Amino acid sequence: LAKKERGCTFRFYEERNFEDAVNQITLEPELLNALRQEQFVLHYQPRIDIHTQRIVGVEALIRWQHPEKGLLFPDTFIPMAEKSGLIVPMGYWVFNKALEDMKLLDAQGCELNRIGINLSFRQFQDDTLVPTIARLLSRSGIHAGRVEFELTETAVALNEQHVSQCIADLSTLGVTFSLDDFGTGYSSFAHLQKLPINTLKIDKAFVQGVTDNPDDAEIVRAIINLAHNLRKDVVAEGAETAEQINFLKRNECDQVQGYFYSKPVALPLLFKQLKQQRQKLAGAETEAETEK
Ligand code: C2E
Ligand code: MG
Ligand code: MG
Ligand code: MG
Repeated sequence: LAKKERGCTFRFYEERNFEDAVNQITLEPELLNALRQEQFVLHYQPRIDIHTQRIVGVEALIRWQHPEKGLLFPDTFIPMAEKSGLIVPMGYWVFNKALEDMKLLDAQGCELNRIGINLSFRQFQDDTLVPTIARLLSRSGIHAGRVEFELTETAVALNEQHVSQCIADLSTLGVTFSLDDFGTGYSSFAHLQKLPINTLKIDKAFVQGVTDNPDDAEIVRAIINLAHNLRKDVVAEGAETAEQINFLKRNECDQVQGYFYSKPVALPLLFKQLKQQRQKLAGAETEAETEK
């Protein structure tokens, strides 16, 4: 029986590898082509201040508008882009596009305080990372303090010295950093101590467990306290229910990014959300004035 099970396991992996390999062969040239033909789009997910309910920033999330397969999510193509190195030009495309979109929103009077941009470990292997980011930033005219690069602990751990140096160099430009998926990577308190990290983003796996799993609740509380004691912002990712939001409020989490408030949306819908918020705030102000 054991032998038979082993056989099954082996076949399972073999089939998976075969599938992965086939996908890679068909998708890899397609990826390069997609970049050339601008088939990628950015969606934006609002980051909400849990106490004021206001949008305080967004995260840029890439999607592939595939001509036949429809809208593809990053999990289906980012790993391949990382393996092939295509993530490097793709990453610059993302950064540049996000800055352009910010300028469009600024021009409409809907300024975002902050935009989160994911950086892959692989992008640090590009020697031109720092000067390219510097060039794109200054060309855009966007204030560097509005940009927050999202790193994973694993990316940092892979080549600590080099990545730390890049982060230090990027920091001198004025950009800020967050640790993404916090708690799931090769966590080290040394990263928190040595790197100029502004924000901890609690992984959604913990956040989604807070109301059912006492361990998840304890972990989330611990991360919130850790962030506050180190004077960092803390964002809970992936909150979907009112119960989760209440837990986060009770435990003084600052910000939430999750489906409960909004899924990632295309720019026109983000614009609409920001405009509505602006109108609501203006309405609240006139109300306050008439009461005086
Ligand atoms: P991430 O940076 O941790 O982004 C958050 C992910 O959680 C997004 O998935 C978002 O849609 C999802 N999410 C947010 N709230 C909820 C919720 O309430 N419920 C659930 N179920 N999911 C929620 P998405 O857009 O599929 O992105 C997956 C990952 O792909 C990202 O994780 C990031 O690691 C990577 N990625 C996305 N865009 C880029 C990019 O431009 N560059 C790089 N290097 N990686 C990217
Ligand atoms: Mg992220
Ligand atoms: Mg995350
Ligand atoms: Mg992730």
